[in-house]
Amino acid sequence: MSVHSSSYTNGISINEQDRYRALVTATSDVIYTMSPDWSVMQQLNGGTFLSSSGEPINNWMDKYLHPIDQEMVRDAIADAIKTKSMFKLEHRVLRADGGTGWAFSRAIPILNQQGEVTEWFGAVNDVTSRKEMEVELKVARFEAEHQRRLTEVVTSNTPDLVYMFDLNYRFTFANPALLQMWGKTWDEAIGRNLLENGYEDWHAEMHEREIDHVVATKRAIRGEVAFPHAVFGRRVYDYIFSPVFNAEGEVEAIAGTTRDISEIKENEQRKNDFISMVSHELKTPLTSVISYVQVAKKRMNQLEDKMAADMLERANKQLGKMTRMINGFLNVSRLESGRIQIDRQTFSLAELVTELQDEVLATVSSHSIKFNCIENIFVNADREKIAQVFNNLISNATKYSPVNSNIEVSCFGDNESAVVAVKDNGMGISEADLPRLFERYYRVKDAELNHISGFGIGLYLCAEIINLHGGQIWAESEPGAGSAFYFTLPAVTM
Ligand code: ADP
Repeated sequence: MSVHSSSYTNGISINEQDRYRALVTATSDVIYTMSPDWSVMQQLNGGTFLSSSGEPINNWMDKYLHPIDQEMVRDAIADAIKTKSMFKLEHRVLRADGGTGWAFSRAIPILNQQGEVTEWFGAVNDVTSRKEMEVELKVARFEAEHQRRLTEVVTSNTPDLVYMFDLNYRFTFANPALLQMWGKTWDEAIGRNLLENGYEDWHAEMHEREIDHVVATKRAIRGEVAFPHAVFGRRVYDYIFSPVFNAEGEVEAIAGTTRDISEIKENEQRKNDFISMVSHELKTPLTSVISYVQVAKKRMNQLEDKMAADMLERANKQLGKMTRMINGFLNVSRLESGRIQIDRQTFSLAELVTELQDEVLATVSSHSIKFNCIENIFVNADREKIAQVFNNLISNATKYSPVNSNIEVSCFGDNESAVVAVKDNGMGISEADLPRLFERYYRVKDAELNHISGFGIGLYLCAEIINLHGGQIWAESEPGAGSAFYFTLPAVTM
């Protein structure tokens, strides 16, 4: 084998030098030549990247190489010299502008006819921006990995179910608690939708509708669902689906968390059963006390003992108050167990208001109450329960506003719905309390309110009744500026 042909693999023959040099010079940012043992840099044409040097120099390493990478370069050179093969390395350099840059450097040995290295011909490409991007990418990957590990720790150690859906209702993440509940591995469950993961039709459909809703409204949704568990029996779950937004603000996924609230529910049930039982037990003696008081009052009237009759009348009023409270509790427990019935009939709201007006004006003298219900709107609803809602709102308006102040009850509406408003000029409600007023047992915590008795169930019952009718209920208020309570009912065209 001739020297010439063998030099093709390890070095480059004299005949090929010119062509090679021309090609490399055209495609590189820097060209340099080195003595056979690399101790002297013959010359370097640095372009805009490195400062050029026309003279042979010995200390080229310190001039051009970043101190951190010098040893690595030295090793690679020793290797190239030993094998007479191409030197090829990415390393940091000291740039002409004084900064640090990244160089991709190659050098090939130039051989004479005898196969001896006469010099090394090198070329450098400035790969600084690519390297910087690589570093950024590395940092980003590290961050992502770090984030992933954090998420894993958080989601692995909670008994709550944590998961993620894509927009096609497929699970893209499920934490160990959820996988364990399904009795599936990650690979079995991920990429599959609800049905494929064993959810029943109704359940899968319900969640798919909710996912659509989250995507359309871009808002989180919260729900409660009960279903039988293979091992633990019937369980109740509280869940939240939240939108995950992309950079453009569009929903790209849905994140979900589910908590088993079966025990909380059981405790609640026990409490409700207790309240219901106590209320029932109190009702029987109360009913007989009321009838005794009424008979006694009649008797005192006949005997013309006005003072005793008056006192019995007051006792009667207080007993009425107690009855209303007890009925409130009984209604709450009926509602909770789904035993409240809505007996619908079509009636005129204006007529109902007129009746209520007579009743209220006869019994309430502490406030000036105006009724304003001219339009004759018909609704298909439970007349008694709607009357109860009116009474609750009017009673609250009197409870939470100063004596002699004005209260206004009005109704208006169109073909679609009837709107009722009860406005007072009382103490008002803070922004923080407004959304919570309709929760069961919720009362505003305020020194002023301490002496006003109540259990926080009136508005809860109102809201439940209105919701059962497909209407809405809300309050508008500011502290000190009075309150307005509104509710709507679907209207019936006659
Ligand atoms: P209760 O009046 O028995 O406490 P409700 O459920 O009727 O229970 O009302 C809940 C809370 O809402 C009340 O405790 C009160 O703080 C507040 N509230 C209700 N109506 C009004 C009103 N008209 N003005 C100011 N606060 C009100």
